Amino acid sequence: MSLASPLASPLAHPLSAVRQRIAQAAAAAGRDPHSVTLLAVSKTFPAEDIARAAALGQTAFGENYVQEAVDKIAALRPDWPALQWHFIGPLQSNKTRDVAEHFDWVHSIDRLKLAQRLSDQRPAELDPLQVCIQVNVDSETTKSGVRPEDASALAAAVAALPNLRLRGLMCIPAPREGLDAQRAPFARLRALRDAIAAEHGLTLDTLSMGMSADLEAAVLEGATIVRVGSAIFGARPALGAKA
Ligand SMILES: *Cc1c(COP(=O)(O)O)cnc(C)c1O
Repeated sequence: MSLASPLASPLAHPLSAVRQRIAQAAAAAGRDPHSVTLLAVSKTFPAEDIARAAALGQTAFGENYVQEAVDKIAALRPDWPALQWHFIGPLQSNKTRDVAEHFDWVHSIDRLKLAQRLSDQRPAELDPLQVCIQVNVDSETTKSGVRPEDASALAAAVAALPNLRLRGLMCIPAPREGLDAQRAPFARLRALRDAIAAEHGLTLDTLSMGMSADLEAAVLEGATIVRVGSAIFGARPALGAKA
């Protein structure tokens, strides 16, 4: 679907405000703002909203639910063939095929079986699937993600798979108040990325970290992808049993 008037778009102001937050944090960190990719997290929002953001120049979109995402990708592809799709949610093994066939990136690799299935199922005519390993950086019992102490072994195994390209690490820290408190887990993820890259001789150029509430802290600690939903699209309806 194409839309006529991007300037009148209800997303114009929130999207430019988020871009400005990223630019200011990058400037404060002495980083090039273009070294941070804004991933617009469009889960639960309709394809119309994605088209609105695309009309404003947004190209990378993050989705959490396989069937919802596949439907939206199919609806948008005719008018917006160049959009980049990132799967960022928990992934069940029996849903890997749709992800391998329709997405460009997966940020939520937390076990080898998932990575093996994605590599096996990646269509030969597509580029390798770009992947990040999700690390449970706060070691919370309820969160997904590999334990920090297990991340290195998983990274080495994932990097060896033929149809995936391991790009780096991703995390979703527990919510914290205040910039310094928010920076701490992001600093740990960066250190872990550096250690794993050095240990295995890997080029890991990606840190996927920072959301609406803590993107400045993440950019200050080296985020290369920030995943922002509600600050762009508005509040999401409360989560049901959707997966
Ligand atoms: C929903 C979600 C986001 C975006 O969260 P906001 O707080 O709305 O910016 C980012 N990352 C992941 C993995 C998510 O599930």
